[in-house]
Amino acid sequence: MNAYDLVRAEVMIRGYDARWADDAEQYDVVAIEAEFRSKLTNPDTGASSRTWTLAGKLDGILRERGGEKRTLLIEHKTSSADVGPGSDYLKRLRLDGQVSIYYAGAAALGHQLDGVIYDVLIKPSRRPLRATPPEARKFTKDGRLYANQREVDESPEEYRDRLIEAVSEAPNEHFVRAEVVRLETEVKDGLADVWAWGQTLREAESTGRHPRNPDACVRYGSTCPFFPVCTGEASLEDATLYRRSEVLHPELNTNADDRLLSSSRLSSARACQRLHRLTYIEGYRPAEDADALRFGSLIHLALEAWWLAPQSQRLDAALATLNPSPAILAAG
Ligand code: SF4
Repeated sequence: MNAYDLVRAEVMIRGYDARWADDAEQYDVVAIEAEFRSKLTNPDTGASSRTWTLAGKLDGILRERGGEKRTLLIEHKTSSADVGPGSDYLKRLRLDGQVSIYYAGAAALGHQLDGVIYDVLIKPSRRPLRATPPEARKFTKDGRLYANQREVDESPEEYRDRLIEAVSEAPNEHFVRAEVVRLETEVKDGLADVWAWGQTLREAESTGRHPRNPDACVRYGSTCPFFPVCTGEASLEDATLYRRSEVLHPELNTNADDRLLSSSRLSSARACQRLHRLTYIEGYRPAEDADALRFGSLIHLALEAWWLAPQSQRLDAALATLNPSPAILAAG
């Protein structure tokens, strides 16, 4: 994580606080980062799976202080996609099987959900400005560099000022919330899908067949970390590229023999069964987490602190998790 990433995270958290601090006053925080286990049941017979347990972690459970006093799950996402009203990103949430898992998970923790708030933070698109390469520099007659060229890299503090400007000008484009409500039948349909995937994965394991899906090798602008292995250009034993661990669900507290179906596991299985085998059966992971993943985790940690802290201390508590450099804090 470089200084520019930290500045970007800091500006996003400051913007989040400015956008949502007042709104948060309408909720009591019931739980934050709540881990659950829930039975997976056969939709036809109601019998519990003898193989799988549903598992996951809920970002937060909130209860409205007034009105209907609804119980809502809040799920934080960071995205670079268009998340405006009517966007495909928001429409897709209606189908998202993850929501059904949340309902089951919250119920297992003793909370009946009335809805899910997707709390999306859009990464500012402005990038740090870099010095113009010497061979590309152009000068005016009086020896000054062209106005659109730079002699030195933009400093993190200068970058921070530009990001604050972008976020302040368009807060509604950078911080979006959408509420998704599931009918009981929709929750059941979603969990029936999960049951079907559980069956598929069990069968794949017993036959040893985990087909590759070349359509999933490049998705959302990034390449699957196992692409070099599947194309025969690298080995899983290359420690500079891959590590192997017995911990199959690093985000959860698990025992080695737990057979857990989490949203992440289902997502990898739906994308490509070979990817699922490599990560959730054999335990391989990229030696280094992708930048986007690290950045998302950083924001997640800051939001966890924000929601846990008393109102007057939320921003400070969240910024403390970013641990920005003294120079960056001083500029605040
Ligand atoms: S694991 Fe699947 S998605 Fe990843 S590179 Fe191989 S075939 Fe493609």
